[in-house]
Amino acid sequence: MIAALRAARHGIVYAAPRRFHRREIAITFDDGPSAHWTPAILDLLAAHAAHATFFVLGAAVDGNEAILTRTLAEGHELANHAFSHTDLATLSDGDVRAELRRTSALIAATAGGQPRHFRPPFADTDFRIADLARSVGLKRTVLRSVDPADWREPDARKIAERVLARVRRGSIVCLHDALPPDRSIGTPSRQPTVDALAQIVPGLRARGFQLVTVERLLTWRPR
Ligand SMILES: [Zn+2]
Repeated sequence: MIAALRAARHGIVYAAPRRFHRREIAITFDDGPSAHWTPAILDLLAAHAAHATFFVLGAAVDGNEAILTRTLAEGHELANHAFSHTDLATLSDGDVRAELRRTSALIAATAGGQPRHFRPPFADTDFRIADLARSVGLKRTVLRSVDPADWREPDARKIAERVLARVRRGSIVCLHDALPPDRSIGTPSRQPTVDALAQIVPGLRARGFQLVTVERLLTWRPR
């Protein structure tokens, strides 16, 4: 708890606050956009009136600009996953800032809108990186509370079971809509994630959950 409070002071969040009472969950995707899997994910989300957050890898944007534009137009959130999928802990302050600024500028130039949230590659952060992210306008470092490790799981059913068993109000779920630049890590396809999502989204909707963006999940709006 104390660790979570200390982290919160640096803008690091894992989920909505403990006593969160709305039946809302944020599903997130890292490493995209990808021409292979992102469009299928967008189709699925649209079919169930669900929204999600896409942590865009700057290096993946080239050639996939139309997918980013579509993602934003359909009400999803575009967020920042740095540029090259390097372990940011190994970079200087200036190089970390350059990774983040370059990706935010690319998202803004391609789809419009300045990203407000950041997830470091490998969901690995420390206070230095979180503070650097805030210094370039990314107000929160968003980690996750539900991690089914879809990137290394070929069985869609297992991915879906892990998510459906672990979610609660305010959860942030981490999935992947593309392969990372280092293809030696994990499974060679994200089709299992797409297939799992076809079970996860209707499963959560049937339990009365709204699937919302991270921005919406973490922003209190009295009604
Ligand atoms: Zn990643």
